[in-house]
Amino acid sequence: MCPCGFALLFYTIPAVSVQFHIEATSGPARAGRLITAHGEIETPVFMPVGTLASVKGVPQDTLEELGVQILLGNTYHLYLRPGVETVRKLGGLHRFMAWPRAILTDSGGFQVFSLNELRKLTEEGVTFRSHLDGSSHFFSPESAMQAQIGLGADIIMAFDECTEYPADPARVRASMELTLRWAARSKKYFEDHKHETPWEPNLGQTQSLFGIVQGSMDLALRKESAERTIEIGFPGYAIGGLSVGEPRARTREVVEATVEHLPADRPRYLMGVGTPEEIAAYAGLGIDMMDCVLPTRAARHGLLFTSEGKVSIKQARYASDSAPLDPNCKCRVCCRYTRAYLRHLYASNEVLAQVLNTIHNLSFYLDTMRAVRHSILLGRGARFS
Ligand SMILES: [Zn+2]
Repeated sequence: MCPCGFALLFYTIPAVSVQFHIEATSGPARAGRLITAHGEIETPVFMPVGTLASVKGVPQDTLEELGVQILLGNTYHLYLRPGVETVRKLGGLHRFMAWPRAILTDSGGFQVFSLNELRKLTEEGVTFRSHLDGSSHFFSPESAMQAQIGLGADIIMAFDECTEYPADPARVRASMELTLRWAARSKKYFEDHKHETPWEPNLGQTQSLFGIVQGSMDLALRKESAERTIEIGFPGYAIGGLSVGEPRARTREVVEATVEHLPADRPRYLMGVGTPEEIAAYAGLGIDMMDCVLPTRAARHGLLFTSEGKVSIKQARYASDSAPLDPNCKCRVCCRYTRAYLRHLYASNEVLAQVLNTIHNLSFYLDTMRAVRHSILLGRGARFS
């Protein structure tokens, strides 16, 4: 027996998972603070997507300057290239991509289920073929956890089945039940292995595993999925299976109906949505975290979000336009360049076009969320203009 109970106590203090504090509410909207081993995140937050450990075209120091507090990485893509073991041996994703702030990885489920022609589903998991070389791979709740633990993001996601849309009621229920069984398996594997994260041992926090609510567009099943996922128990909850082709009004209805069944004291993550107006509206419904490829993907196609509406910079009418892209935007692109120059870069297929367009769009999304947060703190709801 240890002669010094105090020392024993000191050395056995367990590392804690992500912490969430709500600072203010305004109706259903909340402004909060999410504390991870790699920094604090002010919520509601927009998380840029860095599929392959890179936000396409934007270096990490620029992301820091834009105020990005958390990035999203895609497990499926990183698993195929460069491989989980490579990243793990290099100290995990944070070190590999030289990103000291927080990271969230998805489970790989959504991408695997997008490979309709290339996958086979069983109770045990999913066999799929790589979109790169056709090689065969298998993801289960356990192997998806193993991959995400090896990558070492701060927040990782349970392995779920993203139900296709539309789907008949029997299919939706069966899919939701499978996701619940996989959530329990994900949690069991995570609890047994979470100490294997490739981090420095003294960060005081573990990775956190979030559960995902499914149930397609059926509001009763969404409620049941939320309640049974909460029974399994996670430090945060995501709403998955939306933005899969349903009408936008339906997305909002499902979000609103699901949020009310999620615990108020845990972060809520709405996966894969939104235009600037939509992310503000979802924050207004009580969503704390969102991600979307829209600002980065649209930027690469010359579609820019501004305070005056969407701008398709490829259009000839901007060829002699000496105004900034968005006169109300303070980003480094709008402060320096004209629409005419951005249009020229795009028309000439210059790499710089993608870089500058992406920086502006991300800046616009992040500014939108900061304005929404400020508005919530002032008790004025989730307004951004
Ligand atoms: Zn700008």
